[in-house]
Amino acid sequence: MNLIWSIEHNAWWRAGWAGYTRDPLAAGLFDEAETEKILRSANAFKTNEAAVPEQMVFYAPSVDWEKARCQETTGMIGDHYTRCNRPAVVVVKHLGRNEDPYAMCELCASHNVGNRGAVVLREKEK
Ligand SMILES: [Zn+2]
Repeated sequence: MNLIWSIEHNAWWRAGWAGYTRDPLAAGLFDEAETEKILRSANAFKTNEAAVPEQMVFYAPSVDWEKARCQETTGMIGDHYTRCNRPAVVVVKHLGRNEDPYAMCELCASHNVGNRGAVVLREKEK
């Protein structure tokens, strides 16, 4: 997935071709087909927009996959959060949330990407 930087407007494209934002967390994410469509129409006469892969925008820390455990919160005991703690296979970033990317297991990642607006920044090599 890509973000689209508008050179002309000095800002990121929002989702749905609906204006611009300086905040990458509020920017749209576009798949390859959509990216190509945008670049083709926006750059017809002059280079106005550029595609930037999401991994270049949202810094993903490197991970020791042998030791990495899922950091997803599963509940609370007293005043401590409990973590899923299954082996982690991806690093995930929640778009629109001011928090760092963190490691997740396959199950939590699938739920967070499918239902909660998270994107995968880094994957364990298989
Ligand atoms: Zn998990």
